[in-house]
Order: sequence, then C-alpha cells, then structure tokens
Amino acid sequence: MRQQDDTENMPDVVLIGAGIMSATLGMMLKELQPNLKLEVFERLDVAAAESSDAWNNAGTGHSAFCELNYTPETPDGSIDTTKAVRIAESFEISKQFWAYLIQHNIIELPTSFIKNIPHMSFVWGEDNVNFLRKRYEAMVKCHLFDDMIYSEDREQLKEWVPLIMEGRDASEKVAATRMDLGTDVNFGALTRSMFKHLQEEAGVKMHFSHEVRKLRQREDGRWRVRVKDLKTGEKRNVYARYVFIGAGGGALPLLEKSDIPEGQGYGGFPVSGQWLKCTNREVIERHRAKVYGKAAVGSPPMSVPHLDTRYINGRRELLFGPYAGFSTKFLKKGSFFDLPKSIKPNNLRPMLSAGIKNLALTRYLIDQVRQSPEDRLEALRQYFPDAKAADWELEVAGQRVQIIKKDPEKGGVLEFGTEVVSGANCTLAALLGASPGASTAVSIMLGLLERCFMERLNTEEWQKKMKEMIPSYGQSLADNPQLLEKIRGYTSEVLGLVPAVEKK
Ligand SMILES: Cc1cc2nc3c(=O)[nH]c(=O)nc-3n(C[C@H](O)[C@H](O)[C@H](O)COP(=O)(O)OP(=O)(O)OC[C@H]3O[C@@H](n4cnc5c(N)ncnc54)[C@H](O)[C@@H]3O)c2cc1C
Repeated sequence: MRQQDDTENMPDVVLIGAGIMSATLGMMLKELQPNLKLEVFERLDVAAAESSDAWNNAGTGHSAFCELNYTPETPDGSIDTTKAVRIAESFEISKQFWAYLIQHNIIELPTSFIKNIPHMSFVWGEDNVNFLRKRYEAMVKCHLFDDMIYSEDREQLKEWVPLIMEGRDASEKVAATRMDLGTDVNFGALTRSMFKHLQEEAGVKMHFSHEVRKLRQREDGRWRVRVKDLKTGEKRNVYARYVFIGAGGGALPLLEKSDIPEGQGYGGFPVSGQWLKCTNREVIERHRAKVYGKAAVGSPPMSVPHLDTRYINGRRELLFGPYAGFSTKFLKKGSFFDLPKSIKPNNLRPMLSAGIKNLALTRYLIDQVRQSPEDRLEALRQYFPDAKAADWELEVAGQRVQIIKKDPEKGGVLEFGTEVVSGANCTLAALLGASPGASTAVSIMLGLLERCFMERLNTEEWQKKMKEMIPSYGQSLADNPQLLEKIRGYTSEVLGLVPAVEKK
C-alpha cells in the first residue's frame, strides 16, 4: 500500500466527522475568520449519514417543553427546572444561528427543515398526573415556558391527540401539557446544507470516504492526522494546528489515540435504538404533535417513549419509540469490535464500576433486546390504544455512546449528557456523549470557542460577528423576558415558525 507524507497539507483546522457538530463548528469558525484553512474528513461517502440523519434521530428541537426527564422531582417534592431552562435557552441560541445562516443566504435551505409542531407531555395514573400538574406550575413561572397549556379535560385531550385518547379506558386519569412553540427539525438536511456551503468556500477541503486512523502531536505543536482513503487504500498525513473530533460514536477511540492525559479514563457505553414507523397515511395524518411520556422505571433517560409527528423530505411521518437495545458498535455503520477495542488499562476500572452500578440499566437493555414484535406493539398501544400491527414497520435508529468517566469516589460513573474534552493547550477537542444533542449544537460549539479560542473571541472583530450571528450573545434569555420575546419574534419570522398560535 502506497504511503505518502504530504507536508504541504497544513490546514489551520481539521474537523473529523461530517455530522452536525463539525458542520456547526466549521460554519462558525469560517464566519468568524473567513481566511481560515479547514479540512474535513468523513469515513462515509456523504455528510450526516450517522446520528445526524433525519431517520436516525427523533428530530425534536429539544426545548424542554415536553421531555419530563429534564425536570426531575427533588426529594422535597418540588420540581427542579434548572436543566429545562438551560436546554430551552440553548435551543433559542441554535435558532438564532440558523436564522442568521438563512437570512444572509449563507445556506440554501427551505424553511421547512424546521416546522412548528406542538410539543406535548402525556401521562396517565394519579401519581403521574400529580407530577405533571406540579411540573406545569413550576415551568410557567419562567417566561421561557409561559405559553404552556395544561389539561386534564378528556374532551380537550381528544381534540389535541385523538389517536392517544381513542380506545382509552374512560376511568383512567390522564393529563397533558402542550406548547405550540415546539419544533421538528431535519438535522440531516441542515447539516448537509452547511457542508454544501463550506465545500464551496475558499480554503476548505472536504474528503468523503476518508477515515482518520491516528493522531499524534508533533514537537512544533501541530497535530499529525493520519488518514486512509477508503476507496483507494492510500494513506496520508495532514498537519493541523487545531483538531476537532466530531466523530459522534467514533469520537472515543480517536480521543484515546490522541493520548492527551485529559482523555484518559473515559469509556463508552453504546445504546442502540429502533423505531416503529407508521406506514398508514390515514393514521399519520390524524396525529400532529410530538408526545413524550414518562420513562419506565430503571430505563435510561434517552429511552423516554414518544409518538412523534415528523417532517422528512417534505412528507409528514409518524414514529414511535425509541426502543433501546444493546450493540457493541459505536456507530450505526461501525464494527462489533468498537466496544472491546475501546477498553484500555486506564478506563477498565471506571467501566467495570459503572457497569456494576448500572445493573438495572443492563437488565433493562437486555429486556429491550429480547422484545418480540408483540411486546413492541404492546408498548405502542399504551400511547395509541387502537394501533394495528400491519400499520407499522421496524426501523433502526442511530447509535448513541454514553460517557463513562472516572470518579474519585465511585470508581466510574455513567453519564447521559455531552461533554467536550480538550487538551494539549486546547489544540485538540472531542465531543463525547449524545444528549440533548443536535438541538444544542450551537451552544456546545460556543462553549468550545470560549474554551479553545478565547483570545480571538475577545477581539472586537469576533465579538461583533458573534453578536451578528447570535443577537442574544452574552445575555441571558432566561433572565430577560423582553429580549426573549424579541428574539423569538425574529427567529420565528426568518425560520417560518408561527409562535403562540394554535395551528391545525
Ligand atoms: C435514536 C436517537 C434519537 C435522537 N433524537 C434527537 C432529537 O430528537 N433531538 C436532538 O437534538 N438530538 C437527538 N439525538 C442526538 C443527535 O442525533 C446527535 O447528538 C447528533 O446528531 C450528533 O452529531 P455528531 O456530529 O456529533 O455525530 P454524527 O452525526 O454521528 O456524525 C459523526 C460523523 O463522524 C464520522 N466518523 C466517525 N469516525 C470517523 C473517523 N475515524 N474518521 C472520519 N469520520 C468518522 C461518522 O461517519 C459520522 O458521519 C438523537 C440520537 C439518537 C441516536
């Protein structure tokens, strides 16, 4: 196999992976510094074919309007809305950046990549209804959520979600909240438009079917990125000042290869997913909402079941799930050796400790894997009592790799969020974890810029551009109702969203 050292290839930045995270960082950096030399390496032959693809994720514009796991009940019985506020604010930041890209004709994307769709939480049973009422009362105290409506009225609920109410036991106590400001987002289409634009920019090179195999920092501080062209088998090196590992599930193995001390002790726990996809147009047209329920006891937060209206490639769709599962792959198109190969002496203890402490989760996943089609239908019928097996087919969703990290007291802990790990004077950063994910990509990348590009971010030029891209930059939307109203008005107009109006 021919090998070559291409020392001429010395970009400022290398982005590994062509998902929404690399796309967002690449777009932000290129807007902030147009003369930046950037190279992107993606192992597949198109962008956004892993978790960022529309069929591989739920497309929920996570704003904490409906996800009950973002508002835990504290031991004193009150509802903690801290995480919900943070996520809602993050999504407002994402919408501002997307509105900037569209308003400035930077990306060609029909506004239909994002659509208003009511976000609802639906529960049944006395305890759950009490929880939802309490959650609603806590949420509406914050202006980010003050358009939320709560109802226990069966007639009202029948109007909102006929499929969920028909055939349901009339004696059962039910309740729902509804936010008409909710959205469905085609993150795949968004990612591909961002890369389409980047590809046409001076100083940007995109390489599909190119897998990054090794990373090593040289004495001059540049990273030697070893890449294999999967079509020709050719290997070459690229020497970058800064590397972002936006490889989704593939980020952990690359972080391990970089050998930065900050990356030691991290492990990954893969959780796969499946959906039931509705094939009956009549049924699809009768539901118009993203309806999230309560996760089963012992289940991981990302397995909260939801009956979801989607808009994919201009068509309305209906999905139910996700059903969690276990696979040793870190990427949907990855290898079964991903998990075993990621186990190293430095993460063995954290992984074992986290495994022992999360036996309930392991049991839950085993049960999910063993589910029969009848079991899946049974789970769907809890939400849609009259569902017919013939109207649904099983689809494989994206793969998520949850973070396992060292913990001085517990040995190792399993986390369900995302984390940016950086090292070598912040010349290398990796994004681990998957939730709440694509919706918060802009805030995650803002955090990365603040951490790794602080000096330049403080310049007048970058500050000015940041405020142009994200008008609320540097201000709190959670603390400023007037600013939120103004910002929501602006993003709704540009993105074709109609806030606070109930639409059919
Ligand atoms: C079932 C499911 C439901 C979800 N629902 C939602 C939701 O409703 N809302 C939401 O906001 N988020 C959701 N998410 C999370 C969201 O999809 C992810 O957070 C997001 O897509 C991650 O983007 P990424 O760019 O980090 O990774 P990805 O989109 O996975 O992209 C990583 C890319 O890196 C490439 N790659 C990997 N290794 C290498 C290598 N060595 N060399 C070159 N390329 C490499 C891969 O091929 C891939 O294209 C969901 C995820 C799943 C799995």
